[in-house]
Amino acid sequence: MYAADNTRFRIQCKLRFRYRLLKRPAHLLPAAWLCTKCGKQLDEFGDHAHACKHLKGAPVTRHNGVRDVIHAAVSCAKQVRSLSEATMLSIGAVPKPELSHQAQAELKIPEHRADIAIIPDPDRGVNFADTLVIDVTITAATSTLTLAAAGPTTKDKETGEVTAGDGRATGKAAEEKAKWKTDFYAARYSNLQKGNFFPFVLETQGFLHARGRLLLCKIARLQAEYADERRRAAKYPSYASLGVRTRRLIERVSATLQFGNSTLMMRYLQDCPPRF
Ligand SMILES: [Zn+2]
Repeated sequence: MYAADNTRFRIQCKLRFRYRLLKRPAHLLPAAWLCTKCGKQLDEFGDHAHACKHLKGAPVTRHNGVRDVIHAAVSCAKQVRSLSEATMLSIGAVPKPELSHQAQAELKIPEHRADIAIIPDPDRGVNFADTLVIDVTITAATSTLTLAAAGPTTKDKETGEVTAGDGRATGKAAEEKAKWKTDFYAARYSNLQKGNFFPFVLETQGFLHARGRLLLCKIARLQAEYADERRRAAKYPSYASLGVRTRRLIERVSATLQFGNSTLMMRYLQDCPPRF
């Protein structure tokens, strides 16, 4: 897939285990340590990289990497068709009837593209009721970060809620983003069923939203069905179980996310830290 050189590998480890990546210049108070590009507060973990508007291209590359992993995984299961970046209207989505042409244009519905659309039975043509629509989102879980709350990662025995060591509730940001995405699509299209829409939301530290996990299981099942067919046809002995296939997909998504994170951070370290 990819090889990480030493610099990249070091950055990936520091990001993953949350070590300090930057050092505040000794003569600056924390409140005076600001981004030279956008004027926002800087931090030692590089959290600002996820929020800095100046780094616009890097998060897009990271997002597209994850999108391509899913697209490639679905394309391996040949009985289904996977479309990358198809417009919603071309795959059969119907805009809400109460939206006028002008309102549709304002909401950019004609240009709106789904990251991936999976058509389970291409022989039957475009059938939106069965089409899986996937929207990939990568969100930072750092908006509520308070270092004062730092401590070990804990799990509430009653509610099962996991709180990361740095005070962030793991999965909160993903949950919010997934809800926002679902509402975003529901406000625009009348025939999008909730069961067919997959907000594939990843947090930068690796948490994958439940809908995303379900999607990976579905893709693994599609691949296994196809492999089963081929095996029966050719008496081909190679066969990976469903669990192995799901794990491989998770690993691929995870490696791609970490690669994207480190690319973003390398650019950030190069461009953004204040120069005096
Ligand atoms: Zn900035």
